[in-house]
Amino acid sequence: MGANVPPAYGAPSGPVVSSTPPPPGSRPNYASPPFAASPVMTQPRSSAPSGFVSNGPPAFSSGVLPGGPRFPPAGNVQQPPVGPPSTMGFAGAPPQAPSMRSLLGSPAVAQPGPPVQPAPPFSAPVQGVPPPPGSYGAPAWQMQPGQATPPLPMPGSAQPPRMFGMPPHPLPNQSMTSIPPMGQTGAPVSATSKIDPNQIPRPIPSSSAIMYETRQGNQANPPPPATSDYIVRDTGNCSPRYMRCTISQIPCTGDLLTTSGMQLALLVQPLALPHPSEEPIQVVDFGEIGPVRCSRCKAYINPFMKFIDQGRRFICNFCGFTDETPRDYHCNLGPDGRRRDADERPELCRGTVEFVATKEYMVRDPMPAVYFFLIDVSMNAIQTGATAAACSAISQVISDLPEGPRTMVGIATFDSTIHFYNLKRALQQPLMLIVPDVQDVYTPLQTDVVVQLSECRQHLELLLESIPTMFQNNRTAESAFGAAVQAAFLAIKSTGGKLLVFQSVLPSTGIGALSVREAEGRTNISAGEKEAHKLLQPVDKTLKTMAIEFAEYQVCVDVFITTQSYLDVASISVIPRTTGGQIYYYYPFSAVSDPAKLYNDLRWNVTRPQGFEAVMRVRCSQGIQVQDYHGNFCKRIPTDVDLPGIDCDKTIMVSLKHDDKLQDGSECAFQCALLYTTVYGQRRIRVTTLSLPCTNMLSNLFRSADLDTQFACFLKQGI
Ligand SMILES: [Zn+2]
Repeated sequence: MGANVPPAYGAPSGPVVSSTPPPPGSRPNYASPPFAASPVMTQPRSSAPSGFVSNGPPAFSSGVLPGGPRFPPAGNVQQPPVGPPSTMGFAGAPPQAPSMRSLLGSPAVAQPGPPVQPAPPFSAPVQGVPPPPGSYGAPAWQMQPGQATPPLPMPGSAQPPRMFGMPPHPLPNQSMTSIPPMGQTGAPVSATSKIDPNQIPRPIPSSSAIMYETRQGNQANPPPPATSDYIVRDTGNCSPRYMRCTISQIPCTGDLLTTSGMQLALLVQPLALPHPSEEPIQVVDFGEIGPVRCSRCKAYINPFMKFIDQGRRFICNFCGFTDETPRDYHCNLGPDGRRRDADERPELCRGTVEFVATKEYMVRDPMPAVYFFLIDVSMNAIQTGATAAACSAISQVISDLPEGPRTMVGIATFDSTIHFYNLKRALQQPLMLIVPDVQDVYTPLQTDVVVQLSECRQHLELLLESIPTMFQNNRTAESAFGAAVQAAFLAIKSTGGKLLVFQSVLPSTGIGALSVREAEGRTNISAGEKEAHKLLQPVDKTLKTMAIEFAEYQVCVDVFITTQSYLDVASISVIPRTTGGQIYYYYPFSAVSDPAKLYNDLRWNVTRPQGFEAVMRVRCSQGIQVQDYHGNFCKRIPTDVDLPGIDCDKTIMVSLKHDDKLQDGSECAFQCALLYTTVYGQRRIRVTTLSLPCTNMLSNLFRSADLDTQFACFLKQGI
């Protein structure tokens, strides 16, 4: 899992990959040594730094290799049609600068060797806008002109190694591939060599994905490294993709934890993308009675609740309370003390299940999927090509929005004023409605500016096409960002939804206007240095106050910053951070290379598995309690976090503390419950349970430390 790190496996293979059979003439020669036939291993050694050998494009290991596409459609788990962007904007953190420019401008691309372009965001070429050569849209398996690399390895032949870290020792259930010694050209090394190639550490070939069972012999299994390629079988504990603990054994006392110097925390990623080979999460419907829960602490039924008294009662593994088993849920116990139906009921044998929520879990009908796009059309945005890039990206992703009558869209543009568009079908052309007051904003004709997607698809396309020309002579440099966001919020306040903002300049007018703080720091250098950290904090509480109101009405805001100048990201980012959204940062924005990346990011944003109007709570066994939550959310009461939007890339850190002593040899459980609405309007509760052994031994703590998770937690807290 890892905080906000996009999944390690490659982009999902589309039909192009799976429908491309290998040329008949290129059957592998099975008689030759496994690596001798592999051009990828031999060719680059003399022509490219060794880094390229192991850093080959992920597409080499997907689709064409045994096992078929890496992302086959799997059961009832939402599978995204597209892959995560190669450089995902980090939630809450200043995201990575776009990497395409440096790649395109670097001689590395022209260098012979395996293609070095990032994984293709989509297998189909970008429509409409022709992608820059060698970047997005081109399948990664396609050889570049002049490239000497022969055809790809065939099924059965060796795969190029990957950069995954090597576990310090092979795990018991891990298959190790023995690599025969070979020289520069793949031929066996002569006996006179002083270096034993067998002793040289090598990356593990991707074929040896770790098969990981979460529990074995009724004991928790320590998870594989977060960066390794692993396939999980949920045998009672949740997959580490959904929840990982910084230590896989829980210290019995707070003192022991303090002595260890380590932090006790969970990283929770409730909607994480599963590996395609993993079993989908089972959906359990208890009908009108809803999921069985402890009547005292409200923990959800899970494999660690102990049924007693012939199954008539059960003991909660969180608070120890004994409950009566609901009559309809009764089942006799077998000789092992487990319920006879335990293996047939996902909630009694799986660490992660999803319950269908009853009316009790709804304060209103599940909300529709609402997408409101807000585009900067100020002079700078128009002239840098940012407006055109945003319009083109939106136009292309419209077809990727969830189908159905419940999908609604709206659009507005802004400079120093705000312009809404009436998208009702009855009108021949989109009608512009201007809101000039940027101090006290309102939304005109609320019912006409957010309409069903099926009703306005054509109008929307026409409008997006014409916006860049409509404003091409715009001389307004001012930007009323805060007012525009507030007005867009008012337009979708009654339902909630996603607000996607494209911003190019410093918000300079209206509510929430900002100033060039960076320059202020420079005019007085000594003061600037002293106060430097303040530049990382929001300038005031205006945007935070607005954002809390957005969260209350289930509006999740993502901001795409396409800029060539300073615009106080620290202040602006408060809005996505509070509403479960995300900042995307394209600086300095380039009209040549960034539009493709913007489109890719936007497409992943709307197509990745996600939910709306979510509430999350983590429960712990007696003796441990949640200290705090860290991540992009809004918190109104201490125990719950509100997430107007939640998606597969969002991770929340949960720091823990002792409030009592735990018993050596017992287990301590953690349960994350995420109540959310799917994009198709179903209300669900995703319940993830992890039960770990308690220990009094300091050495056990160090042995079971999860360094990836600990490091990710440090970063989360630093933000
Ligand atoms: Zn309980």
